[in-house]
Amino acid sequence: MAGPSGTMESLTIVGGGVAGLSLALALSQKGRKCTVLEARPDGDGEHGAALAMAPNAMAVLRRLGIADDVTREGSRIDWYRFMNPRGQTLAAIDLEPLSRPWGEHAWCVPRQHLIDTLSHHLPPSTLTTSCRVSQIAWQQGQFALFNDHHAPLGWASALVGADGAHSLVRQHFWGQRDAVYQGFFAIRAVIRYRLDNALAHTVTQIWGAGSEFGFSPMGSDHTYWYATLRWPQATPPWPTVEHVLAHFGRWCHPVPLLLEQTPPAAMLIHPIFDRLEPWRSQPIPVTLVGDAAHLMTPNTGQGACQALLDSWALAQSWTRAATPVDAFQRYRSLRLSKALTVARISHQLGRLIHQRSPAGSQLALMLLAAMPPSAIRAAMKRVVGSPLSLHLEC
Ligand SMILES: Cc1cc2nc3c(=O)[nH]c(=O)nc-3n(C[C@H](O)[C@H](O)[C@H](O)COP(=O)(O)OP(=O)(O)OC[C@H]3O[C@@H](n4cnc5c(N)ncnc54)[C@H](O)[C@@H]3O)c2cc1C
Repeated sequence: MAGPSGTMESLTIVGGGVAGLSLALALSQKGRKCTVLEARPDGDGEHGAALAMAPNAMAVLRRLGIADDVTREGSRIDWYRFMNPRGQTLAAIDLEPLSRPWGEHAWCVPRQHLIDTLSHHLPPSTLTTSCRVSQIAWQQGQFALFNDHHAPLGWASALVGADGAHSLVRQHFWGQRDAVYQGFFAIRAVIRYRLDNALAHTVTQIWGAGSEFGFSPMGSDHTYWYATLRWPQATPPWPTVEHVLAHFGRWCHPVPLLLEQTPPAAMLIHPIFDRLEPWRSQPIPVTLVGDAAHLMTPNTGQGACQALLDSWALAQSWTRAATPVDAFQRYRSLRLSKALTVARISHQLGRLIHQRSPAGSQLALMLLAAMPPSAIRAAMKRVVGSPLSLHLEC
């Protein structure tokens, strides 16, 4: 893509999470150079726990040529099982009909391994770590970027905000309100524990009053577990390990066992936010991907999957459009409403699970138990989307 001066556009991506790194990789495979500025130090290992990669995400990873690397330390997921805290199975969903159209299975993978794999496949000097962008200015048709000490970090002719939930790029160019706390916390851990062989390819989700607990095998001898807990505020005091043990300690097997096997320091505890407002295209070449574009609650397990779909669509648009603004407009029209639909479904699911009234929670469980597997699968299909959309975006 040629800039006004006839030179290649210099694209800078702020944020090197799943969205920023996958975009850089997709662009590099098309012979396009870009720069990723990431605040975290190199290899800080902070990208904790695990991620469910649905077939839509696996299809992008396959096209990026890294699907087999990413899943090397993960577990293939063929079944979703929903239970109540007493251990009764409410529904068991075979994912095969969902996976078949994509030609990909769902997987549970270590998050850090996904980040490392994406980073290692980038051309040298694409990624700069320990580099927080603190100020941005649009000057003379270019973006000027500065660090915490007001020192210049460089110029870019096009800018992508891949800087996550509390995106500076979004705040700066769209000025919209920040992410909204959803009234619950997520607690996650990966532990060295081997689930029964019968669960080797199953994600189990247990719905209780104002909370849920889920677990999945990860690799040959690890388990990823996650829980959510209704909590009045995102500001301290946060729920502690003791709250988690007190709330879930009497749930059905193997929940108490998984908690017992988890070193307290291994539990990641975070408030959950989302942001469902659409944003407009800008007349200047700046756009958003991943959580910066459509932050969603984890209830559909799709935030990182949608970030991968964004990256794929944006890289295609970048190589096809005449100008960066056209490319960003095309990308936005391909992706934003689809991703926001998933974010809204996640939001509603989060509300259903974390409602205040015990009677409401009971009703949600009864509804789930009454739903035929085909209806649950249809809802999942709506979230995962159609491979047709990916092909159209090729
Ligand atoms: C509890 C929980 C469970 C989840 N489970 C799943 C799941 O199973 N499957 C799934 O698909 N998704 C899941 N998600 C969602 C997923 O984690 C996110 O959607 C995904 O990580 C978004 O990637 P991102 O790159 O957009 O943002 P991030 O991962 O937040 O990355 C943004 C990056 O930008 C950097 N950054 C921020 N500001 C600046 C700055 N000013 N300058 C430079 N760098 C900056 C940050 O350091 C960070 O590395 C889950 C989320 C939560 C909270």
